[in-house]
Amino acid sequence: MNITAFLIKYGEIGVKGKNRYLFEDALVHQIKRVIHPLGEFVVRKENGRIFVEAQGEFDQAETIAALQRVFGIVGICPVLIVENKDWENLTKEVVEFIETQYEKKDFTFKVAARRADKSYPMDSMTIGREMGAVILDHFSDLSVDVHNPQVQINIEVRKQVYVYSKILKGPGGMPLGTNGKAMLLLSGGIDSPVAGYMIAKRGVKIDAVYFHAPPYTSERAKQKVVDLAKKVAAYAGPVYLHIVNFTDMQLAIYEKCPHEELTIIMRRYMMRIAEELAKENHADALITGESIGQVASQTIKSLVATNEVCTMPVFRPLIGFDKQEIIDIAEKIDTFETSIQPFEDCCTIFVAKHPVTKPNVNMIQKSERNLDEVIEDLMKQTMNSVETIICRYEE
Ligand code: ATP
Ligand code: MG
Repeated sequence: MNITAFLIKYGEIGVKGKNRYLFEDALVHQIKRVIHPLGEFVVRKENGRIFVEAQGEFDQAETIAALQRVFGIVGICPVLIVENKDWENLTKEVVEFIETQYEKKDFTFKVAARRADKSYPMDSMTIGREMGAVILDHFSDLSVDVHNPQVQINIEVRKQVYVYSKILKGPGGMPLGTNGKAMLLLSGGIDSPVAGYMIAKRGVKIDAVYFHAPPYTSERAKQKVVDLAKKVAAYAGPVYLHIVNFTDMQLAIYEKCPHEELTIIMRRYMMRIAEELAKENHADALITGESIGQVASQTIKSLVATNEVCTMPVFRPLIGFDKQEIIDIAEKIDTFETSIQPFEDCCTIFVAKHPVTKPNVNMIQKSERNLDEVIEDLMKQTMNSVETIICRYEE
């Protein structure tokens, strides 16, 4: 039995009217993008549904896995398409469908038939009833439960007949590109890749920025961030990763500012630079992996101090998450193993022994004035140091 097609279920109640078309078109576009490397497929919209049909050889498991990375998809139903609508043939196909789709044939079921092709000689009630009888005849351990069946066998009579029953879970969310673009501050840690994933899930295209401090941070630390961006790209599409050389900036801060304020001041400059880069790349918001109280630089007062330099909204999707909850998502999206590789990032090198946990914005501003003479040149030089790498998902 050859399952050659998938019915794509998508949700997001409330997406109506013109936005519905934008949503569907973006979804079709994203589906085409992920399955393109896997074979020849036709993706079409039909009566408010999307069908993906293979035109030749393809690997079913691989195709499903790819579709499960497309935001906006709620469910994926493997569909049997029957060309010959003759009743005799149809019953034979449906029996074979159950035969191959289910290992154990001891469930309760219901046949839900729909007749979109009104010229078909049987109405939907009759199709449902008759097909149910045929199925019961073939599989002695199956039984009918019309109210709460374990398996619903859907039969839709259109130009061809569509038969499907399983619904595999999609990632949900909204199709990429339907909600603008944001700039993710991507470190080598556990949190920021998860934060990027969560915002991308809402249909937001993401670019990423990484602050690199050679030779204090190694090439390997940078490679780790590239690897993470590639993992995030499995869901978020190709990620443009902007690598900023942050060394001179950090050295200047280290030299001229009080050490207990280093982290906060450094983070404020990261936000300023990220915002500049966001503007240059037409992104309208920033994303960080911060979570309240996780470290000294993420107390509410520290977040206030960091946030003060931004004019764009800063999305912090993990703000109320516990570490374990973040790790659970990191494992699900396969970034965890990469994140825990032991390569230092710039924040771990230039840290004070006793960082302030309740920074006072006025004091921080005052300390930053120590940089007045050098900051303009430093900013220019830092912005000019940016190297951009396009990170694509690698299977
Ligand atoms: P993560 O696990 O994401 O590294 P963290 O728990 O280590 O986070 P911090 O080091 O305080 O927390 O960083 C907070 C956030 O700041 C990160 O989630 C990330 O968005 C951003 N960030 C930190 N360091 C860098 C860096 N070197 N380059 C880009 N962004 C960074
Ligand atoms: Mg970190």
